[in-house]
Amino acid sequence: MVLTTDSKRWVKRLLTGSHAMSLAARFAPPAALILAYHSIHNHPDEYADTIGANNIHETSVFEKHMELVARNFSSVTLDEILLFLEGKRSLPPRAVAVTFDDGYRDNLEFAAPVLARYGIRGTFFVTVDYIGASKLPWFIRLRYAFWNTRLVSWRGPWSERTFKLESLEDRRCAFLAACEYGARRVGAAQEEVISGIEHELEIEPPAANEMMMTWDEVRKLHSAGHLIGSHTLTHPNMAFVGEQEARLEFQESKRRLEKELGVRVEHFSYPHPVLDPNWTDRTAAICREVGFVSGVTTVSAPVRRGQNPYSLPRLYTPRELSDFRWHLERSLFQRAQGRAHACDV
Ligand SMILES: [Zn+2]
Repeated sequence: MVLTTDSKRWVKRLLTGSHAMSLAARFAPPAALILAYHSIHNHPDEYADTIGANNIHETSVFEKHMELVARNFSSVTLDEILLFLEGKRSLPPRAVAVTFDDGYRDNLEFAAPVLARYGIRGTFFVTVDYIGASKLPWFIRLRYAFWNTRLVSWRGPWSERTFKLESLEDRRCAFLAACEYGARRVGAAQEEVISGIEHELEIEPPAANEMMMTWDEVRKLHSAGHLIGSHTLTHPNMAFVGEQEARLEFQESKRRLEKELGVRVEHFSYPHPVLDPNWTDRTAAICREVGFVSGVTTVSAPVRRGQNPYSLPRLYTPRELSDFRWHLERSLFQRAQGRAHACDV
């Protein structure tokens, strides 16, 4: 029998509504779920050619998610999950932590008030070089360039093929190929590649327009009780850059965050700009050596005792509330490691 999307939703609603799954999860070993968000906006469509629709949750959708977390789960922080992994404390049943990547200003403007309403303390992973900077993250500049160029094809200086730029799908395909060049580089080398592609596409970079937080805004989140973590300096794929470059991204982002916030910064989130995997045993080892206590990934699975704290899985967050609830309920008793979810550019 083939189930339609509507009938699948109906079955999921029936199962989650009947408490059968929460009952089943009671017999599974203790677990925590870490949720991954990026941008929260009232009008996501306005940012389709910069942040990208897939990376944005509408504020009202996010509010419904948090209302469900507050009502049906126990919200915890990453610090509490680490203590659980170290065997120093137990977790409340159905523990859920909420995290955000990249450092968008909307996190303070739209997400933080919702979190405050439901008494949830989140963790915000910021990309240090873009905090208060005049330039936007490289993947936003690339999306803007490919979405807005007047050219109908592109053959970048580093590319082995010519990409059509006629339909939106063509542009997305070329954008993802170009992202591979940014993802493999850091700092000035990365900037050179991105500005080279903008030049090829005859596009000026978009105005920064307060899209990313300033240091004062990051400090406001911290003062409100949220944790701040590192999402590197320049958002490369850490598994695809050299050891010295990776070490600098870990070390320097930590040092600058600690200098700006005046507190220890202990949590790290691996960027996932195309290319798999986005972390390896080598990156996990450097993450530990430079003094972080955790590293979160984009592998969708629950956190259980025995999990390496430097490769903590995080759940993707489906927008539709019944899908979101199903995903959380099912994950509570999922045993196997999940697959990496969509990349974060
Ligand atoms: Zn990211």
